[in-house]
Amino acid sequence: ERVDNPDHNVAFYRLDMNEGMQQRMQIETGLRHALGHGELLLHYQPKFEIGSSRLVGAEALVRWMHPQRGMIPPSDFIPLAETTGLIVQVGEWVLEQACAQAAIWQRAGLPPFRLAVNVSAREFTSSLPGRVADTLKRYRIDASWLELEITESTLMHDIDYVIGIMDHISALGVALSLDDFGTGYSSLSYLKRFPIDTLKIDRSFTTGIPSDVSDCAIASTIISMGRKLGHRVIAEGVETLEQMEFLRQAGCDEVQGYLYGKPMAAYDFEKALRENWLLVA
Ligand code: C2E
Ligand code: MG
Ligand code: MG
Ligand code: MG
Repeated sequence: ERVDNPDHNVAFYRLDMNEGMQQRMQIETGLRHALGHGELLLHYQPKFEIGSSRLVGAEALVRWMHPQRGMIPPSDFIPLAETTGLIVQVGEWVLEQACAQAAIWQRAGLPPFRLAVNVSAREFTSSLPGRVADTLKRYRIDASWLELEITESTLMHDIDYVIGIMDHISALGVALSLDDFGTGYSSLSYLKRFPIDTLKIDRSFTTGIPSDVSDCAIASTIISMGRKLGHRVIAEGVETLEQMEFLRQAGCDEVQGYLYGKPMAAYDFEKALRENWLLVA
């Protein structure tokens, strides 16, 4: 009770706030340091065409190799980086690193496959298309090597502004996909206007297949709608053969998930690519 003991609650409140703030500041300082000291790295998770099992792409996923705390997953620092604005620098590093890797694979003579980079809402500004074009040019890689994954939170900006940026990116020949589809707030009238190539069914729906009737209905509906709108549809988080079989029968184009391959270091990805996976020539 505040009246009985006015300092009591205040003291606890301050303690909580300080701890939270201190932790956030520690992560932020650490992340700034990580950017400058090579502690970030990318893992690559394969994407396969359903049925043929041919590799069609890979998603680049950032990790933070902390000298004391070990491997920190993006869920522990991306949301914070998004609120502090540091995501812009992280995103620049990710695009740079992904293109450097694509250049290595292109020069090694591998047939092209799309390397997808996640882009946060705060990075989705009018300077993005120019930066993407510049990066492709500097690494001398074809635009067909690159894909950007955006989430529905990108739509917190003005819709015409977002579509303008998407059009610029698309005109470069870089593919666009709508990530975590079905979990955000975008309306179907927006979807109609987006120059996107692929819809990604969120893992939360894939997980319920085949036991959850609603998840099955949602996944099937996203697949048929996406295809009727002329997009490819990929399901993320595919872990079982039953899920894959359901998705195949529902007409899904591509799959990504632990059943086929976890996110892995570039070296392991390339090794699997040469030894186990078929590439679309
Ligand atoms: P996302 O873009 O939806 O990426 C898919 C996430 O699902 C990845 O988690 C991946 O490891 C995980 N995943 C893939 N297949 C399976 C599966 O079969 N089972 C399970 N349980 N999980 C699976 P990760 O790497 O921890 O990344 C989490 C999120 O962090 C990403 O979700 C993305 O939103 C964000 N993120 C990762 N890297 C970046 C980045 O470079 N930039 C930005 N802005 N966000 C990133
Ligand atoms: Mg993604
Ligand atoms: Mg996703
Ligand atoms: Mg997801």
